[in-house]
Amino acid sequence: MPKLNITPPDLRRILCFVAEAIGKEEAYLNSLDGAIGDGDHGITMRVGFEAVKAKVGALDASVTIDGVLTESGAAFMGATGGAIGVLLGRMLMSAGAALQGCKEIGTSELRVLLNSMETAVASAGKAKPGDKTILDAVHAANQAVATTAEADQSLPNMLSRASLAAGTAAQNTAGMRARVGRASRLGDRVLGHPDPGAVSFSIIMRAMAQWLEEN
Ligand SMILES: [Mg+2]
Repeated sequence: MPKLNITPPDLRRILCFVAEAIGKEEAYLNSLDGAIGDGDHGITMRVGFEAVKAKVGALDASVTIDGVLTESGAAFMGATGGAIGVLLGRMLMSAGAALQGCKEIGTSELRVLLNSMETAVASAGKAKPGDKTILDAVHAANQAVATTAEADQSLPNMLSRASLAAGTAAQNTAGMRARVGRASRLGDRVLGHPDPGAVSFSIIMRAMAQWLEEN
């Protein structure tokens, strides 16, 4: 039976599992970025999550949920450059700030986590949903958990819904033109190619949901 709550040790294992999932998709993420950018997105994501993995492995056993998130965000930001390094770093750190003192992630904490991540991306990147950015996937995941009917609310179910919603939203960015960032200069040439950041976020959500199902 999947876990109904995520403890700090669980969260550390989940982030290591996410790091492995991202590492497996490095070439795919590079190819997505190569179509509409400079082709380094997979490398950046792998390097960032390797730093997260090293950081969570070195944390004290008494670390809380917010401590894991804040330290992971700082590690990701410190190890990577570019817009995605700042965005994902801020998302993790904002989630940490929003869950201060939190001992476990249950359904209400998952809603707080995704909502704080969406707020962090929206304010940092000046993008709106539909602009072909990571925000599209984050927004979809946040909406999926925010609108889960009360009878369906369990952590595995909500994470599974968030994962599916993020995956669909990431693929749907292929039909969008970019309004912000470097890809915005490419106009119609970005059509048919999903946003690499949105795909990365969907991989993160998928790995989280999968870990919960299997542990
Ligand atoms: Mg790039």
